[in-house]
Amino acid sequence: MLRDRGKIDRLFYILYFCLHMKFSQYHISDKIKKNLTELGFLKPTDIQYKSIPSIMKGEDVLAIAQTGTGKTAAFAIPIVDRLFAKKRHRENKSIRCLVMVPTRELAVQINEVFSKIAANTPLKILTTFGGADQTTQIKALKTGIDILISTPGRMFDLRSQGYIDLSETEVLILDEADHMLALGFIKDIQDVIKHLPRRYQTLFFSATIDEKIKDLAYSIVRNPIRIQLSPKDPVSKNIDHQVAYIEMDDKRFFLERMIREKEESKMLVFVRTKVRAERLAKAMERVNIKTLTMHGDKHQEDRLEVMETFRKGDIRVLIATDISARGIDIPGIHYVINYDLPDVAENYVHRIGRTGRGTERGHALTFCAPEEKPILEIIQGFLGKEIRQMEIDKSDYRMTLALTEEVNTNWQKLLDEAATAKSSKRKKKKK
Ligand code: ADP
Ligand code: MG
Repeated sequence: MLRDRGKIDRLFYILYFCLHMKFSQYHISDKIKKNLTELGFLKPTDIQYKSIPSIMKGEDVLAIAQTGTGKTAAFAIPIVDRLFAKKRHRENKSIRCLVMVPTRELAVQINEVFSKIAANTPLKILTTFGGADQTTQIKALKTGIDILISTPGRMFDLRSQGYIDLSETEVLILDEADHMLALGFIKDIQDVIKHLPRRYQTLFFSATIDEKIKDLAYSIVRNPIRIQLSPKDPVSKNIDHQVAYIEMDDKRFFLERMIREKEESKMLVFVRTKVRAERLAKAMERVNIKTLTMHGDKHQEDRLEVMETFRKGDIRVLIATDISARGIDIPGIHYVINYDLPDVAENYVHRIGRTGRGTERGHALTFCAPEEKPILEIIQGFLGKEIRQMEIDKSDYRMTLALTEEVNTNWQKLLDEAATAKSSKRKKKKK
């Protein structure tokens, strides 16, 4: 019994030690530790705690952890540390670590995390993506890049033109891995893998993964991958999410009311298509609400500017398509609104995962029209539970429609038009 007690005490001690182990106690270089302190990263998050040792050992890792739990630093810290410790051979012009991500904005964001963790080291980090000038990217590539963060399309182009050397690449990282291995990207990924050396380390990170993609992931790596963390509920516990039943044509009035009522909040509104994003922005403009839009039809410079404006909070409502559903980390998004339901169930998790990041609490509300109920059911099936319903009683529903400034503006417009018509008639009579 006493011996057991000793064991239990030891276990508690280990647990206590683990939970409280700080980055300062890790076997990583002092320079990186200092950078982490500057970032305000003192203790690892769960996924960092679980995956960093395996990555440091050189193992292949498939890590599934909820949105906003610090997956970027989970792969960036050990990789930066290793590449910094092991200097590159002068002759070697190959990319040492390749990070593939689905969107340009995510590439830029991940570059920032890597750059901060690698601050004051000689490591060279570069981002390449479509829509931007190739020449500057090509020039930078010639100097020998340690960490390249890229979207698959541009990566494919640059590699097939011979500007990217993968012959001595040590690490391949797929962030949003399930998405990167799905239709649309898989061909580009397979092309990249073909050009990698015989031995390299693979790291897959995502908040969601299904069995099919998991099998595919296992099939493209030779070593068995370790699954580090697999939450039962894919939705982060920091997020309070609900669904409200609203007719399709009434949705904009509810959005208008929410924006006005939560006047201090940053809000990310997801719609189904580019056209709907622009249309909704126009509808908001008519009621004097300033919004930003983000979708695939926007020019590259505009895309980056939009994200910067939203990040700074100069305009606090961003209307976006699923292009912004994955990976984007903007602290202080208090609300995610699913103005339309997502086409794919897992995107529900990714969309609402843009709120409740790190230790923040977040809210998400889905506007579900009667015709969207079948999609809602698929999403609930994917989550394995029902989404809590926000009850809107009839009078409140009616009031929301009555509150809109659109009606008032329209009235004002009609009155103005009537007034102009009257005065011009009078003028004509006088003549
Ligand atoms: P995920 O990829 O899991 O969705 P991110 O890597 O984007 O999450 O990180 C989410 C937020 O958590 C970021 O704002 C990041 O700065 C913060 N973060 C990550 N690791 C730590 C840490 N160890 N301590 C404090 N904050 C952290
Ligand atoms: Mg991420």
